[in-house]
Parts: sequence; C-alpha cells; structure tokens
Amino acid sequence: MMSETSSSQQEISEGLATVRTVGNVFYNPVQEFNRDLSISVIRTFTRLFKDEQEEKNSKKKNEDNIVVTINKDTPEAGVKCEDGITILEALSATGLRSIRYAKEIPGVREIIANDISFKAAQDIKNNVALNGVENLVQPSHNDAVMLMYEHRKEKQFDVIDLDPYGCPTIFLDSAVQAIKEGGLLLITATDMAVLAGNSPETCYSKYGAISLRMKSCHEMALRILLQCIESHANRYGRYIVPLLSLSADFYIRVFVRVYSGAHKCKFTTSKLSHVYHCTGCDSFLLHPLGILKKNDKNKNQVKFGIPTGPPVSGKCDHCGHPHHIGGPIWSAPLHSPEFVQEVFDTASEKLGTFRRIQGVLSVVLEELLDAPLYYTLERLSGTIHVEMPPMMALRSAILNAGYKVSFTHMNKTSVKTNAPPRIVWDIMRCW
Ligand code: SAM
Repeated sequence: MMSETSSSQQEISEGLATVRTVGNVFYNPVQEFNRDLSISVIRTFTRLFKDEQEEKNSKKKNEDNIVVTINKDTPEAGVKCEDGITILEALSATGLRSIRYAKEIPGVREIIANDISFKAAQDIKNNVALNGVENLVQPSHNDAVMLMYEHRKEKQFDVIDLDPYGCPTIFLDSAVQAIKEGGLLLITATDMAVLAGNSPETCYSKYGAISLRMKSCHEMALRILLQCIESHANRYGRYIVPLLSLSADFYIRVFVRVYSGAHKCKFTTSKLSHVYHCTGCDSFLLHPLGILKKNDKNKNQVKFGIPTGPPVSGKCDHCGHPHHIGGPIWSAPLHSPEFVQEVFDTASEKLGTFRRIQGVLSVVLEELLDAPLYYTLERLSGTIHVEMPPMMALRSAILNAGYKVSFTHMNKTSVKTNAPPRIVWDIMRCW
C-alpha cells in the first residue's frame, strides 16, 4: 500500500513494514510476490539449517561423549536470536525487504541492509528507526562487491540476497565467496531480453552462455543463470544445489545453496548441456558437456568422460531446417521438491500474495525434474498447421506412449516431457 505523506514523500506499507522514501529511491510494488516468497523460503531454510547444525553438533558431542542439551525454544520474529542466521541484503534501496525479513522471519541474529547510493543508505537508516528494528538491521553504505569481499574469509553470511536492476553477474564472484558452507543465495535477474534470446552475444559476454529465442526461453533464462552461478562457485572449489527457480512477471529468481568440495566440482560438466534448437519446428535436443559412468574395475567409482559428438548432425530430422546451438545451460533439476513442499506447507496465510505463492508452488511441485525445457501447445499445432488438440488429450497420448509429461509454472500451455521430439511429432500428426 502506498500513500503520499508530504509533497514528495511516499509512505509504503507491505507485510509488517512501513517505509518512507523521498524522490527516486527504488520501490516496485509488483515485487511484493518476490519479497513474500523470499520470506517463506528463508523461514524454511532457517529451520532446515538449524536442524542440520543441531544434528552436526549432537553427533560431534556424542562422539566426544558429552551430554547433549538442545535449545528447543521456538525463536520469535523481530527478536534477536544469538544462535540465529545472518543475512546480507546487498542491494537494499529503501530497506523494505530487510525490515520485513527482520519482522517476519524468526531465528535471525543480524541483517545488513546495504546500498551504494547515499540517498538510499539514508532512507534505510531512517526506515530501520521508523520500524524499531535497530536490534536486528544494520544499515550500510557500500559497494556490494567490496562489502562481500570483506566477508569472504571470515564472518561469511548464512543468507545473501542479490536483487539488482538488470543483470546480477558482476556480484557473483564475491557472493559465492562470502556465503557460508550450505548457505543460501537468493538472486534476481531482470535483463530478460538478454537471457531470452534477443541478444545472444550480450548474453555470452555477461553470463558465459548463448541464449536462444525459443518458446521455452524463460526456462532457458533460469538455466543460464544457474550455470553462471555454478561456474563462479566452481572457481573456489564450491558448487550449487538449486532449491527453487522461478520465472515471474518481468524477472527470474533463483534460490540455491552453496557447498564446498573439489571432487564434487568434477560433476559439473555432467550437469550442463548445449541445446540444439531447430529454427524450423522449435524441436530441441540437449547434449551434455560431460558424462558419468561407473568404472568397470571398481563399480562404486565414477568415471568422468567427454561425450562423443553432438546428438544430431546437419539439419533437423523433422523439418530439414538448420539448428542454432545455445548454452551451456544447467540441465540438472531446477528445484528440490522436498524443500518446495516444505515452503508450500508452511507459507504464512498472512502474506499479501499467499494465494499466488500457493498457486505457483503447486505447479512447481508437479514439474518434471529430468526433462529440461518445454514445448507449447500453440507452437506444436501451428508448426504442422493442425487444430490445437485439447491439452488433456495430448498429455494422455504422451503418457500412453510410455513417457512422462507435466506443465511448468512458466507457461499455461506448456508441454514438458521426456518423450523424444520424434514421439511428440508422431502424436501431433496423428491428431
Ligand atoms: N531489494 C530492493 C527491494 O526489494 O525493494 C530493491 C533493490 S533495487 C532493484 C537495486 C538497488 O541496488 C538500487 O537501490 C541501487 O542503488 C543499488 N545498487 C546498484 N549497484 C550497487 C552496488 N554496486 N552496490 C550496492 N548497491 C547497488
């Protein structure tokens, strides 16, 4: 809710926070969903993280034969929790998000709300005082990159939120170093034109991957961002595990945990693929950058290998048009279903966008995890000039052929399937 308090001052209320800003400090009401969802995700992460820490501590104490006492008190939101999590909101603008995190997430020790703009930093300071959360939120006026580098060796954060205008990649090198083991990164990208194939060259220079103009460009965008975060993490012997990856309104948002392990980094090539996209019929094939196979001599040992040649040579088998080659993209799962289920089950009904959160997450929970990218019903029927079949009929035909199929939260007419393009076209032609 927004109102004018004096000639140029705006007062904004969202969730449990009220902030004031004068002039052009950034506030976008459409991002309420982004902030509500982030609160739900961090709440779930905090519980999970605490349980993991307790399990680790009690194992250690058991090994050392020490009697274990676990503090089972439920922490309260807005109250400083000495063994709680630390959060950095690196690009904070009015401070609204950080103030909401402080008032709506239990189990927090400290939040740093930072912005490079002097005006924004002033607003953050005033708004923290206005909301009485000085005990939890520390305003900061700094370049986010410098701030994160200062935290890369010690005092790393449990949670880092990056919510820039446009492209987040300049912040990734410092973010993957400033995050604690198992910590949570929340990253927004709004440069959708670049990520969705309008400028593949710019996408390569910013994200290290070629974007393609295809129907499933929003999923492609998510997968390009994830491969980019993974590649930054790999430089420091770290890797990511995506918890939830969403495309909404004009932006994408990913929630990933970061872990260390030089050996695990060797698995990265098998989690990335190039995409062969037909310029005629929109069919696509994925070609992994690396393959894993069990070592013959030692069945438990994994052997890493490079695949032999692309899946197709020359023109598309289905329509004879050439392919564009895009990527590399992240071709491993976009979400952790257990984590998403937990967020779904525990999201607060008081959130302004609670219904939307429930709606989006319920579709996410049904999405196939092992079938990257998707077709759309209009494009499938438009390509071969047939009347659009009912979605249920197409889905049943794919299931009857022995394959899996689902929607995605990114498109209402999406057809996500592990069926090869040949099967999909056979079904469409028989329609
Ligand atoms: N997270 C905010 C929210 O939910 O309302 C919105 C952030 S707004 C999209 C981006 C902010 O990043 C702007 O206030 C801008 O001043 C700040 N910014 C841009 N570059 C920065 C940098 N290098 N370090 C810190 N802040 C930066």
